[in-house]
Amino acid sequence: MIVDLISDTVTRPSQGMMDAMMNAKVGDDVFKSDPTVNSLQEKAARMFGMEDALFFPSGTMANQAAIKVHTQPGDKIFCDKWSHVYNYEGGGAAFNSGVTCKLIDGNRGMFTANQLKSAVAGRADIHVPYSRLVCIENTTNKGGGACWDFQELLTIKKVCHANNLSYHLDGARLFNALVARNETPMQYGEIFDTISICLSKGLGAPVGSILLGSKQHIAKALRVRKLFGGGMRQAGFLASAGIYALENHIDRLKEDHQKAKQIEAVLQSLSYVKKVEPVETNIVIFYVNDHLDANDFIDAMATKNILLTPMGEGKIRIVTHLDITREMIDRLLEELVLFSDV
Ligand SMILES: *Cc1c(COP(=O)(O)O)cnc(C)c1O
Repeated sequence: MIVDLISDTVTRPSQGMMDAMMNAKVGDDVFKSDPTVNSLQEKAARMFGMEDALFFPSGTMANQAAIKVHTQPGDKIFCDKWSHVYNYEGGGAAFNSGVTCKLIDGNRGMFTANQLKSAVAGRADIHVPYSRLVCIENTTNKGGGACWDFQELLTIKKVCHANNLSYHLDGARLFNALVARNETPMQYGEIFDTISICLSKGLGAPVGSILLGSKQHIAKALRVRKLFGGGMRQAGFLASAGIYALENHIDRLKEDHQKAKQIEAVLQSLSYVKKVEPVETNIVIFYVNDHLDANDFIDAMATKNILLTPMGEGKIRIVTHLDITREMIDRLLEELVLFSDV
């Protein structure tokens, strides 16, 4: 038995999802004639109360298209120093849109409205780039699945409004936040200009993300998606997995969260663990004692068929997901306890 806790992207489609995919009605989505893609987009837009939505092959492309839609080359965008758009999209903001990132020194990937205010303040003359866009990420990936306080997001919206900034949400794991905080997609649809969500993370689809926004933003994004090479043809086979995921895999995220909580509790009791970041959703980040090397620890677990990720700076990451069973968690906990400080 391999216990793969590397990411919530490693899931395989369930039988129900496979059946939905095999029975999908398809067409050519570049000509907008794939009924299943259209129905996924309509469904997502309805859920969030937003005008329109567009299916993308990846979350990276959806975020990058959003940045492109909101900016012109030379503009400045604001994001946390740990954000995915800055750290893990291959420098795409600079490459695709020619923008610079003003990094905010947040806490676990989350900054405050006041921090944004100070970052935005200052001279606005010919020397400085135009400020154009604020990107936030919920849940935070590098921040260990932490959820933003919705009130803070509303206050940030006011700062955006006062400074004529667009507001984009990288919601790769937004559904984890909604389930953990008992919030609704509508609440988010109301305050953000654009939102990206991943179907291929906790929701368990094999491929796909969605970008949500106004008709105007999505019309621009459609053009950008084509330019990026993301126009897909009989994409309904993939979109049907997305529909299945939205209908069947949201409520169950709480099971992933419970399992992560259980792992957190065991880690806290182990003498070789220095620190565990507070667990709120499906990501557990912890540090081992200084004299232990995080990579050695990960290698030792790999020999037991337990797969974890090194996050740098001595951090180790565990992600629970759809394909992690009770037995797998028991195996993990057993090995964590057996491993001893040497
Ligand atoms: C995974 C992820 C993305 C997009 O990733 P893809 O692998 O390109 O789908 C974007 N933002 C965050 C926070 C993520 O975790």
